[in-house]
Amino acid sequence: MSFLSATLSRVKPSPTIAVTNKARELKAAGRDVIGLGAGEPDFDTPAHIKAAAKAAIDAGKTKYTAVDGIPELKEAICAKFARDNGLTYVPEQVSVGTGGKQILYNALMATLNPGDEVIIPAPYWVSYPDMVRLAGGEPVAIEASLETAFKITPEQLEAAITPKTKWLIFNSPSNPTGAGYSWDELKGLTDVLMRHPQVWVMTDDMYEHLAYDGFQFCTPAQVEPGLYDRTLTCNGVSKAYAMTGWRIGYAAGPVELIAAMRKVQSQSTSNPCSVSQWAAVEALNGSHDFIASNNEAFKRRRDLVVSMLSEIDGITCPVPDGAFYVYPSVAGLIGKTTPNGVVIRDDEVFATALLEDEGVAVVFGAAFGLSPNFRVSYATSDAALKEACTRIQRFCAALS
Ligand code: GLU
Repeated sequence: MSFLSATLSRVKPSPTIAVTNKARELKAAGRDVIGLGAGEPDFDTPAHIKAAAKAAIDAGKTKYTAVDGIPELKEAICAKFARDNGLTYVPEQVSVGTGGKQILYNALMATLNPGDEVIIPAPYWVSYPDMVRLAGGEPVAIEASLETAFKITPEQLEAAITPKTKWLIFNSPSNPTGAGYSWDELKGLTDVLMRHPQVWVMTDDMYEHLAYDGFQFCTPAQVEPGLYDRTLTCNGVSKAYAMTGWRIGYAAGPVELIAAMRKVQSQSTSNPCSVSQWAAVEALNGSHDFIASNNEAFKRRRDLVVSMLSEIDGITCPVPDGAFYVYPSVAGLIGKTTPNGVVIRDDEVFATALLEDEGVAVVFGAAFGLSPNFRVSYATSDAALKEACTRIQRFCAALS
């Protein structure tokens, strides 16, 4: 019998992190690699946020804090929810953790019993199903295809709900597709949930501020106030504020759930980094002007990638509403062969061969639960994206 836990045997390491590490290793070994794997903005953290962190260090704010966040940050989070989402929360309803990941993980650990089902629209962010498994639950994927712009329908949601369903994990704009649900589309889903009082909603709003072409972000408890008492609204500073390494995620929801999440965190990591919390206070309360200019760059890059990939025979590349990902289909390339004799059987072989032959790192679609696709993160420079897309074009043209 293995020394390792049976639970862990149901879980795989994070593929997004694996691809990012592989690209980093190849670069360190001298290979010319363009990494489009990690979902991480190339922009620096804005200066006023860094200054707040330095001031916190100088003021000695370097000790343990309250387990799930300093009062100042909880206040800033309540103000953010009121300002951006029309949602009223008090600090007792707020939890701050080490990145969005810890928040989601705490919530699942705090609520799942063996056999509990969690509905996850696919394609999904790689970590949702494995976090559910780690917490002892059963992920139930609903497939959203290219034909429905990667969004699930109310009928699909209705059909997936069982008496064992505990959560729906909702994510818009989506990682990995960038698809965003309009108010009416989301209302269609929340109407279904109103008929099933046992199902709670965990909404991952991490890409809220990264929206293009006038896409209007909305979140479940805002669209259907009747769900407020069974919604955990999750967000974080990583993506919009270019603060991935600071590791600050947060959520607001019912007091009992927040207290249970605090219990999990008190027995694992305790508080998120004190200095990062002060930086996050400044991020949320300070100027947001930089977001518009960052978004201009993201939109330009999105358009560049979509247009260059769309020129390729065999690739279909939908235009996303938000986030900084595109999720093209490679259905038209399956069965073709590379000049080295590798048969592109599936999207994992496609991504591996692309890295080997052209030094472009992308994440294969199977990791996100919908194949045959791959995810490109376009949160990198225009020049790198242009070169990467040129290489992808060359790679595909060489297939026979
Ligand atoms: N969320 C980002 C991504 O999807 C960061 C890596 C991770 O935590 O998965 O690439």
